[in-house]
Amino acid sequence: MRLFEAIIDANHRAVAGDQNAGLHPADYESELPVIALTCIDPRLNAFFPNALALPADQFIWLRNAGNIIFGPMSSMMRALALACAVKGGKEIAIIGHTDCQVCKTTTMQLLERFKELGVERHLLPENLNEFFGLFSSERQNVIKACDIVRHSPLIGPKIPVHGLLINIETGELDWIVNGYQTLDVMAGRLNVPINPAGSAPDMLKSLPSFQIGEMKFPKTKIGELASKAEDWQEKQTGKIGPAAQQAAQHVTPVAPSAESFAKNVAEFAEKHWPKPPAVPPKIPIPPPIRPVKRR
Ligand SMILES: [Zn+2]
Repeated sequence: MRLFEAIIDANHRAVAGDQNAGLHPADYESELPVIALTCIDPRLNAFFPNALALPADQFIWLRNAGNIIFGPMSSMMRALALACAVKGGKEIAIIGHTDCQVCKTTTMQLLERFKELGVERHLLPENLNEFFGLFSSERQNVIKACDIVRHSPLIGPKIPVHGLLINIETGELDWIVNGYQTLDVMAGRLNVPINPAGSAPDMLKSLPSFQIGEMKFPKTKIGELASKAEDWQEKQTGKIGPAAQQAAQHVTPVAPSAESFAKNVAEFAEKHWPKPPAVPPKIPIPPPIRPVKRR
């Protein structure tokens, strides 16, 4: 089961009354943390991240009125992109909710409310619906947002983008857009395998950027090392019999300079990269603020 399949499963079991419903975050390390975009409705405060069965430190929470994505390069889109690139978010979920007031409020009602706030009609943009992104279906709004995020150039092809709807009364989640399926369809079209974000090859790719100016590189470039290794293998397989040739194909030769390069990387990592504490530090909880009674 993948992360959101497990989340939906745990959520449905919890709503049905299963006291033990939940998931083990350690089983989904490569798919965490999760980025969620929800509405600003304060009724949602009580539901997250519990409704997803996730610990708070694996939950990156973005909000705006109506969980709306305005465009592939909009400010919310930029926040999502940085949540992936800077905070390491692995999956995105656009989570709408039932009884959303952004959906229920009509243009006339909105104009009246603005008037009460001293904001006159002529000060507002011509097309209010478009400007505030007002929508008439919570589900359609989530589908549209997922579509924009999925096709935004700011989000790579490795991040699943899910669409969900949460019931504001019960906290039950409804899966509208399955981001894994969309990703599989895309991979099929491109006809290339898509590694999940954070898998080993990606982590290796990001290594050299850490070392620039701080580490002594071997003079050979990484690409050259690979071709040298290929040459070496060709020479070896040319010289030996078919059985040995077959065996040689299963062995990846490591050129001496590649070996020392790897050793340098390991030494550098050991010395400079922060290590996670054995026991995670406790998060201090601020004292509750109580209303003061007037005398
Ligand atoms: Zn709402």
